[in-house]
Amino acid sequence: MTYANLIAGEWVQGTDASRNINPSDTNDVIGEYDRASAAQVDDAIAAARKAFPAWARTTVQQRSDILDKAGTEILARREELGNLLAREEGKTLAEGMGEVGRAGQIFKFFAGEVLRIQGERLGSVRPGVDIEITREPLGVIGMITPWNFPIAIPAWKIAPALAYGNCVVMKPAELVPGSAWALADILHRAGVPAGVFNLVMGRGSVVGAALVKDARIDGISFTGSVPTGRGILAEAASRGAKVQLEMGGKNPMVVLNDADLELAVRVSLDGAFFSTGQRCTASSRLIVEDGIYDKFVASLAEAVGKLVVDDARKAGTNIGPVVDQSQLDQNLKYVDIGRQDGAKLVVGGERLERGTPGFYMAPVVFAEASNEMRISREEIFGPVASVIRAKTYDEALALANDTQFGLCAGICTTSLKHAAHFRRNIETGMVMVNLPTAGVDYHVPFGGRKGSSYGPREQGRYAAEFYTQVKTAYVNQAL
Ligand code: NAD
Repeated sequence: MTYANLIAGEWVQGTDASRNINPSDTNDVIGEYDRASAAQVDDAIAAARKAFPAWARTTVQQRSDILDKAGTEILARREELGNLLAREEGKTLAEGMGEVGRAGQIFKFFAGEVLRIQGERLGSVRPGVDIEITREPLGVIGMITPWNFPIAIPAWKIAPALAYGNCVVMKPAELVPGSAWALADILHRAGVPAGVFNLVMGRGSVVGAALVKDARIDGISFTGSVPTGRGILAEAASRGAKVQLEMGGKNPMVVLNDADLELAVRVSLDGAFFSTGQRCTASSRLIVEDGIYDKFVASLAEAVGKLVVDDARKAGTNIGPVVDQSQLDQNLKYVDIGRQDGAKLVVGGERLERGTPGFYMAPVVFAEASNEMRISREEIFGPVASVIRAKTYDEALALANDTQFGLCAGICTTSLKHAAHFRRNIETGMVMVNLPTAGVDYHVPFGGRKGSSYGPREQGRYAAEFYTQVKTAYVNQAL
């Protein structure tokens, strides 16, 4: 089946199409997804601009009803959409269904949040003047999303954008257009007016680039890799567009001598390897204090060795395949780099064959890694964790902060003092105490510091910072 783009409320065929392949079984083609041309991106932006004045003036009830309807359908189809997501991206069925559930909840959250858009009224320093501060929609938003959360990331951008009265042109990642197409179909049928939400699928270099350089786009919300994000920022900033970037991570999980070992292993296993390690919040650096280091490495290696790597949708699978051949090649290249740089490969690292042709590899633990090694500095985006030794808590904290990234960090400890100190002194946007670095709630801000993020936070009520602009009105009381 061929799936078209949604432009100005119509399903429009592209110039050519890309095949959506199941990474668990490359013989399984999910569908053909039309690629939009640059001219079609132009049409989508024109449609969004045209729809904006009327959409911005809809009542909060109208927007709430549409978001609620979309959320209800997503939740009702959790199993079916989770299956599609696992089939196209390769995370397990349970993870796929969890992600779809989250997407549904995000729409429900913003169906409520739209009713709570607030302003402020202040007294003036001058006599006889009132001041009113209001939030207005930003305008037309271009959205560019990555492949690793095919429905949750589009949802956490689209729902607030629509809630605050913006129009949207969205380009999903080319590897996973299926979930984004399903979401577009749901929004279309939920009653989003023509042009308010547009889906343009295809290559980053064509469709994404056309969105970024267009002066009619008021804001770009991007999630993806650092190099792509930086390029988008330079281009969009040169024409004064508002930009929000969520990018990579090299997230540390610190394990102190006084940690509950079993909990620390469970938390590290989840953070480093679930979703095949393909999470921006994955704990790819495990920084472990000397006294517990050997026990931790032995227990983690044992647990990793027991993980079942197989078809994402098969019962009993813990870890699905890597998303595609080039990501698999990159992961295996880093396994070689880690070995050459002197880290000790304790478990995993080999290409695996399963019943179907897919991109399977055994999750990797590198012990005796240093924080200077490339495997500890560069984002691999696969099931590969470095275990780094620290002599003291202070050294562990310093190592955790010694990175260009600052998305998330975690600590496993039973010491209130160290947990409190870590929370205050870690240079990240999110911090976890005795919890995995990956796995966050949908109603609170998400984002990082340093090289991981740029611009206002996403999610929760903080999403208003990006999707609205502030107006200060002075009114003379006399007239
Ligand atoms: P990517 O940067 O390759 O692609 C992201 C998106 O940008 C895709 O839709 C792609 O088509 C598009 N794109 C590529 N070139 C473009 C260009 N020149 N102009 C406009 N758009 C362009 O990233 P990816 O491989 O899809 O995703 C993996 C990355 O995403 C990892 O680095 C990961 O850390 C990051 N990520 C970050 C977060 C976060 O919130 N911090 C969440 C998930 C993933």
